[in-house]
Amino acid sequence: MNVALEAPLTDLSSSPAARAALQELLPPLTEHEALTESARCLMCFDAPCTHACPTHIDIPKFIKKISTGNLRGSARTILESNLLGATCARVCPVQELCEGACVLGSEHKPIAIGRLQRHAMDHVYGKKLAIFHVAKSTGKKVAVVGAGPAGLSCAGELAKLGHAITLYERRDLAGGLSTYGIIVLREPVEVALAEVAMVQRLGVRLETAREVGEDPTVTELQKNFDAVFISVGLGNTPQLGIPGEEYILDGLQYIEGSKHRPSQLRVGHNVIVIGAGNTAIDCATIARRLGADCVTMLYRRSENEMTAYPHEYDFVKREGVTFLFLTQPVKVHHENGVVKSLECVRIVLGEPDASGRPSPQPIPGSTLLLPADQIIKAIGQNKPSLASRLKLKSEKGFIQVNADFQTSAPGIFAGGDCIRARGSASTVMAVQDGKLAARSIHQRLVNHG
Ligand SMILES: Cc1cc2nc3c(=O)[nH]c(=O)nc-3n(C[C@H](O)[C@H](O)[C@H](O)COP(=O)(O)OP(=O)(O)OC[C@H]3O[C@@H](n4cnc5c(N)ncnc54)[C@H](O)[C@@H]3O)c2cc1C
Ligand code: SF4
Repeated sequence: MNVALEAPLTDLSSSPAARAALQELLPPLTEHEALTESARCLMCFDAPCTHACPTHIDIPKFIKKISTGNLRGSARTILESNLLGATCARVCPVQELCEGACVLGSEHKPIAIGRLQRHAMDHVYGKKLAIFHVAKSTGKKVAVVGAGPAGLSCAGELAKLGHAITLYERRDLAGGLSTYGIIVLREPVEVALAEVAMVQRLGVRLETAREVGEDPTVTELQKNFDAVFISVGLGNTPQLGIPGEEYILDGLQYIEGSKHRPSQLRVGHNVIVIGAGNTAIDCATIARRLGADCVTMLYRRSENEMTAYPHEYDFVKREGVTFLFLTQPVKVHHENGVVKSLECVRIVLGEPDASGRPSPQPIPGSTLLLPADQIIKAIGQNKPSLASRLKLKSEKGFIQVNADFQTSAPGIFAGGDCIRARGSASTVMAVQDGKLAARSIHQRLVNHG
């Protein structure tokens, strides 16, 4: 008998040490470290890092201001391009973006742009400094639907221009996945909520626990507002469609539990995470850090098709998580609802399917039984349901927009994950969508009255 498997799941309420393991991973830079790091920057003309940042923050300029002790000015430079600079400083895949483009990266260490950005932003939020003045009222009203990074960015930018903004959010807290989905290791909830408060201080009226489509309806919004911006993100985790799926935990809910209800989160000893994207990696990290003896990530394709960032993949391997590729779950075995194992089949990759990736083909007679006392699925998110309910034109289930973020319905704009039909989604891209959509909406309101 495997004693570990027979033992009850770990109760975190009795484990403050386990909870401490989930605190923000990187410490803030000290004043001295920030000065030393900023002094290393070559202040490139036409800097590649600025081009590589999706919001095109003037990076040499904000770093220069740090080097002269002007932290408020530095934060202003960041916020002028990216209203969610504190979140992005923590969650951006900097290796793939700004730091990946740093000219010092080829021979030395790239400048720690993300951590310097965090240094400047922490200064402003720590001291509760106001940065922007709001333009005088235009008399125009805009409704923003969904208070994640795209919605907050759009709402804040429009408020700065003098428009009256109502931001509707169906959850009790605003911030979207920054508040509910990104693990505390990377971003504490308080950082996301401080940014929400900053957007509210710009004059945005936030209405939480209001689900657009139910109360209010979109028709009501169209009647009462001059423009609408939809930034509803994506939906729940899709179904696997296998017997016993009801005993599999939802990865997004698992992460949310670790952020908002850690004392109620129960962690297995032998955990299987289905999926190999960044959400799956986050679930595996939580389980491992909270005491799981063995965490295995299961993916039906190979290492080459994984959607997780390479640095995240390396990180989770260092955490002690193991991988089982070319393996597909087919049935959960349980006794009276207590998970015992996951039945799987081995896979061989065939011709590309509709997603353009090699299609997984089960190998006959290759069944295997993997012992587990907790199974979590993190296999992506469903497409935004509001798009079909509104009969907006869509592309692969995502809302279709033109270059101005205008949907097929006049006066309705959209941005963020809900329009990301191609490429991988990220917070900084959602922030950029919100900013650019705000400019288009502003043009429309100013030019068309
Ligand atoms: C687990 C996880 C980890 C991630 N980690 C990272 C990371 O480390 N780095 C990174 O860059 N990106 C990461 N991402 C991606 C990033 O979080 C998203 O790209 C980003 O949050 C998208 O912003 P958004 O505003 O489009 O959508 P969301 O953040 O999903 O916000 C949408 C908001 O709309 C609300 N809403 C939905 N429907 C309605 C309605 N009908 N009425 C009112 N409100 C509604 C939702 O409640 C939500 O608050 C991660 C994603 C996940 C799932
Ligand atoms: S917003 Fe992200 S990509 Fe842009 S400079 Fe900051 S950390 Fe880098």
